[in-house]
Amino acid sequence: MVTSGWSRFIAGLAVLTATVAAPATGQSSQSHLAPPAGLESFLNEVRGEALAAGVSAATFERATRGLEPDPQVLALGSAQPEFVKPVWDYMAGLVSEARIAAGRERVAQYGQTLAAVERAYGVDRHVVLAIWGVESNFGTAAGERSVIRSLATLAAGDARRPRFWRAELIAALRILEQGDVAPERMTGSWAGAMGHTQFMPTTYRARAVDFDRDGRRDIWGSISDSLASTANYLKASGWRTGDPWGFEVILPDGFDHALSGPGRSQPASAWRRLGVVRPGGVAVRETASPLQLLLPAGAQGPAFLVTGNFRAILRYNPAVAYALAVGHLADRIAGGEPVMASWPVSDRPLARAEREELQSRLRQHGLDTGLPDGIIGNQSRAAIRAFQRIRGLPEDGYPSQRLLDVLRQAGGSMKE
Ligand code: CA
Repeated sequence: MVTSGWSRFIAGLAVLTATVAAPATGQSSQSHLAPPAGLESFLNEVRGEALAAGVSAATFERATRGLEPDPQVLALGSAQPEFVKPVWDYMAGLVSEARIAAGRERVAQYGQTLAAVERAYGVDRHVVLAIWGVESNFGTAAGERSVIRSLATLAAGDARRPRFWRAELIAALRILEQGDVAPERMTGSWAGAMGHTQFMPTTYRARAVDFDRDGRRDIWGSISDSLASTANYLKASGWRTGDPWGFEVILPDGFDHALSGPGRSQPASAWRRLGVVRPGGVAVRETASPLQLLLPAGAQGPAFLVTGNFRAILRYNPAVAYALAVGHLADRIAGGEPVMASWPVSDRPLARAEREELQSRLRQHGLDTGLPDGIIGNQSRAAIRAFQRIRGLPEDGYPSQRLLDVLRQAGGSMKE
């Protein structure tokens, strides 16, 4: 389950998809968002479905009466940055000194709650805290938009994923029906990610918990419910108690970078035999889950060994940069060190048009990347690795500027 999910996420990922605003909304939208003229006819259409799902007429009327589309939601949903933020900028933004300090304050402030949540779900308290910090900046940026209004706007106006938004809208109405939250308090991001934990309504219905036992699952007002809901979600996503998310490692000279990637996980002992160590020469520790070598910026950047717990964090948001930021923030809140190796800051990530060019050029070399769509999935990575192998380059599968330069110089043929 977790394993197949991993492959699916990686396949769907642009390398450094770091612009994701909410869980389960990983793809940015393009020009398929048209402002609906009004929501009345759309809501009439949804009404029957909502009632069939157990939403009462009274709840439906109260939540939707006089509802107008939110034009800002469509503007935010159609923002499609041409340049992705490099993973190091993304991490620097989220793992700031201010956020680390705020996280340490929360450790002191909510120590008992965090300990109780850790006991109940077996998930490391610092990771739970880091997700809270990354998702809503510890509840200070949880989003003030009406979730019903945002989701109705998207369900009516996003031609590419109308069913996704509609299912979330129905789920949001069912939450109101259960009385967990009043409509005016059900706020969230433009994409309908709600409260401290930024759960989408379907995730809320499946995973939110009433940890303080007041009869309501309150991820808007209760820190206990919010932290426990996050831990519950990670546990359900395959979290293994006692394993770290991962850690930075140093690769020995002459290391074969082809050993990186999701298909090449190995136990700690195998990595130790290969001469892989942690910074300061510390031995790679044993873990219950096998360890995958992650090179988020290719062979030129830092290296990490990650466990199945890293993949559990990816279930929150499938961007590798996101999971790394969460894991690293957790470590820093707990007193850990900054990333030791330097990031290849002069080798900026490729823009979309350049990624498409990279794919087209690999195809000219007879290497199958699938359609040149600018999305570097498993097939494109395999093609990059094959090209790197032929050229005697470090086989990291990473679509760098340097690699594109090599391909441009190589022209259309592999012959020298
Ligand atoms: Ca509660």
